[in-house]
This record gives sequence, C-alpha cells and structure tokens, in this order.
Amino acid sequence: MAGLIAIVVLGSGALDTARRIQASFPDSRVHGLASRVSADVAYEDFGVHLRELYVAGAPIVALCSAGIVIRALASCLTDKGVEPPVLALAQDGSAVVPLLGGMRSVNVLAREIGAALRVTPAITTSGEVRFGQCLLAPPEGYALPDIEQGKRFVSDLLAGETTRIEGRAPWLDQAPLPRADDARLAVRITPFAAGDEHSLVIHPRCVLAWIEDASAADDIAGRVRLAMREHGLAPLALAALTAPASHMASEALADAARALDVPLRFCDAAPFDAGPARGIALHVHDVPIDARSIGRARGTLTVIGLGPGSAELMTPAARNALLAAQDVLGYETYVRMAGPFRDDQRVHMTDNREELQRARHAFELANEGRRVVVVSSGDPGVFAMAAAVLEALDEGRLEHPEWRAVKLAIVPGVSASLATAARAGAPLGHDFCVLSLSDNLKPWSVIEKRIAHAGEADLVMAFYNPLSKARPWQFDRAIEIVKRYRDADTPVVLGRDIGRPAETLRIVTLGELKGELVDMRTMVIVGSSTTRVVGDWVYTPRWHA
Ligand code: SAH
Repeated sequence: MAGLIAIVVLGSGALDTARRIQASFPDSRVHGLASRVSADVAYEDFGVHLRELYVAGAPIVALCSAGIVIRALASCLTDKGVEPPVLALAQDGSAVVPLLGGMRSVNVLAREIGAALRVTPAITTSGEVRFGQCLLAPPEGYALPDIEQGKRFVSDLLAGETTRIEGRAPWLDQAPLPRADDARLAVRITPFAAGDEHSLVIHPRCVLAWIEDASAADDIAGRVRLAMREHGLAPLALAALTAPASHMASEALADAARALDVPLRFCDAAPFDAGPARGIALHVHDVPIDARSIGRARGTLTVIGLGPGSAELMTPAARNALLAAQDVLGYETYVRMAGPFRDDQRVHMTDNREELQRARHAFELANEGRRVVVVSSGDPGVFAMAAAVLEALDEGRLEHPEWRAVKLAIVPGVSASLATAARAGAPLGHDFCVLSLSDNLKPWSVIEKRIAHAGEADLVMAFYNPLSKARPWQFDRAIEIVKRYRDADTPVVLGRDIGRPAETLRIVTLGELKGELVDMRTMVIVGSSTTRVVGDWVYTPRWHA
C-alpha cells in the first residue's frame, strides 16, 4: 500500500477501533480532531484535513458515517488525477464500506480491515461480487504486473468469456470463476515475463537473488535486473535480495533493495546452491517465498528523546521511530510515557540505573535483526541513553564486532533545560552551560570546580539532577559556590515536571534558592549577571558588556 494509511477519528469513541486497525497496519497513523481526542496526528477541521489527505494520495480510513466522508470529499472527486483508497467505517468497527479508490486497492484494504475486525466488508464492485476473489488483487506473495490488462480481462469474463488457470493459484481454487479447460483466456501464474492479450499474468514472488560480493560499489540493482532478464524472469517475481552477513552494513545493498522494492536479508551462507560463480546468483522456487523466513534483516537501533513529557513536544521523527519499533527499551517511567504500544511490540522496562546493561541488550536484539528503540526523556544525548549506547559499542568493540553492523541512529528531543527556558522566557538567550549535579558518575570535586569556572565565566547555568534522597547536601553546597560569583537578586528559574500534567514553574532569586525548593524532577536555571525579569518573564539579553 503506497503511503501511510490515515485512520481518521472524530472523537474518543472511535479510538479503540482505530487502534485495533492500527495493530494490523504498522504503517498507519491515527488522526484525531484536536479539540476532542489525542491521537498520533492532530487536525483542526475534518473537511479540510480529509481533503488534504486525499489530494496527497493518502489511503483514508474514516471512522464515521459514509455520508460525512462523501460530503467532505465531494469537491475533490471530479479530479481523477489521484484516487487513493477511501473507506468509511462504523465507529465500533461493525461495518466496513469501501467508497473510492479503484477496484483494486480499496477492496484489498477493506478485506484486510474486515479480517482484523472480524466483519465482512460491504464490497460493491461488480467483478468482485461475481468472482468472489478479486483477480486483480492477488494475495501476498503474488504480484500483478499490469492492472490495465487485468481490467480488460475481468470485463471479458463479465461479458461471458471463460478462462483456464495455468500454474498454481491456490487462492483461486474456491473462486467461482467461469472455468473451461479449452478456454481462450487464461490466468497464468508464472515467474517468467510472459503474456499476450488473452492472458492475465500473475507473478509469484519466488525468485531469490544472492549477492556474493557487495563490496564493488557498482549498480547492484541494475545487475540483478539484467540477470533476471537474461533468464526471462519478470522483475516482480523477485522475492528478496540475500547477501552474506559480513556485508550487513553495505549501503550499496540497501540502495539496491530499495530500488528493487524487495526485502534485504542476510545469511551466513547462500540460502540455495549458488554454485562457484562470484557475483549474482538467482534461484527460482516453486512457490512464493516469505522473505522473513530467510536469514535475518539488518537490525536497527534508534535512540530517541521523548521531550519533557507532553505528546506535543515529541518530534514526529521520534514518534515514527516508536511506531516502527519492534522492541522498546528504557526506564519504566519513560517507556510508559512513550506508549501505548501494539500487541506486536515488545516492551522491556528496566530500572533507571541499568543504563549500560540496557544498551547492551538493545544491541543484542538489534543484532538479531530487530527494529529496536531505546527511549530517554528530553534529549537522548543529554545525560541519557545515547551516550550509554555508544559506551556499550565502544566497550564491546573487541567482544562484539558484529554490533558495528547494526544501523544506529540518534533522534534528538527537546531537553528539559530548553523546555523549562521556553516556559520562563529566554533565560538561555546568551551563553550558557549545562551541568548535572549528580555525583554518581563523577567525583563531587569535579562538579564544584566546574560550577566555580562557570560562575567566573559569567555563564547562565542549567542544572540537571539537582538533588536526590541519596544526595541531600550537594545542592546547597553548589549554590554556595554560585553565590561567590553572583548577586543575591540574580533570577533563578525552577521548572518542575515541565510538559507533564503536574507542571509548575517558579521564579525566585539566588538569595532565596535552597535545597528544599528542588527535587529530581526539577530543572534549575541560574541567571548570569545580565539575566533580567520583565513582568512574568525571565530573559538573558543577547549582548554582554
Ligand atoms: N535527557 C534528559 C535529562 C535526563 S537527567 C533531558 O534532556 O531532559 C534527568 C533530569 O532532567 C532531572 O533530574 C531533571 O533535572 C531534568 N528533567 C527531566 N525532565 C524534566 C521535566 N519534565 N521538567 C523538569 N525537569 C526535568
């Protein structure tokens, strides 16, 4: 299915059904009316949003009456340029009605959604009703190369012609097709590029390509296409590219798989007898191949920042990584913040202190070929998991060289200092530094020295981890040092649970600041000599004398 499926709801009543559908379509997003429901994507106006999706070619699954959808899209319907599948569903999932989107994809989608919700979709396309199974939408593992030819074929059948079936098409066994052994028309199931005006060709995806040597940066996709053509094989019959596990990090292979639009799998040895020839070997199976059953994928490990807490302050990139994740790891509180998760997603919650262990576990899972996401609050690179993940990689470089092949990515997030600063105004408007006051991983003497230097340099200071039960006196000691360099009336911002329901923001002076005012959920920003208060706002001017 091209594009992300937009599951559109108007209120929270439809959210359950929406999530049930989403569980079957990882490539989908739930769109909710901003004023009524919190979903993956917020919209303000139903009609405007639906038309935007339609024009962008996004498949639309609207959980509301067919009438509302039709009226919303009416003005777009004269333009036949784009026609993504559009379905209307009863909010409770009891009815699935394909409305638009050609005879092909919308009915496939309707069937898949119907299967997920255990209802029979209301399919109204004549060819479909007549032949039960849609000839033009073969099941997974088969591909139709020419939809126009297919449409002609179906209209011939509707006009009274009969057909033969050549090759194995198990899904047509029970279909009420008008069959005749001597028919002029034929449905031909074959991996070979074949076809004439009397046949409907469907390719089983049953060809594997083994790329022995991907080190040469030449055009792998082009070579695969050429090899297929030389054997008379149709491009759509290709099921997967396979390659030695030692080439897992090869960009050329990833590009080739993308260009050929097939999965890329890695094996320790060729998954078939590839012969002595180096280069590209092809193998034609009798039946379609499920690429997932061969070797393993290149695993991914994505370290994301959730932002300070609210869904609004999470970046779309982080949200997309979560939606694509198969495994999610992190400290329990943050993992809960990142949810809810689908049934197919595995969640691994651990204690906050087990960062390195969690990072190693993430590499192990990714090395099995899984899509792994590690969550941090705020930004993952600020006193958080991104550094722990790289420490694990660094420490494991001799023992686990295979971790290097994992596709690693770090997705930034809104750090607590930035979120707090924005609520207060612009206290970080000029040079500043961030410091963690936790002495778990560094000696307290280093912290004291750094505070003194920051004080002397007249930097605004943002303190993370200001105080905990295990570190009761350190904060007051830190403030004593700051006071050597700053006036008692220096503005101080205290942000607690910023972006979360319990959010509070206080502006105090350095003179008033003491340990009782802060805890582990507080961000402390101490101004420089130029930091000022205007009304309720705190800011540091962009200049410095
Ligand atoms: N990676 C995180 C920081 C982790 S250290 C980030 O970039 O924000 C944890 C400290 O961050 C807490 O002790 C607190 O000082 C601060 N913090 C995290 N979330 C916060 C929030 N929502 N409001 C205020 N401070 C927060």
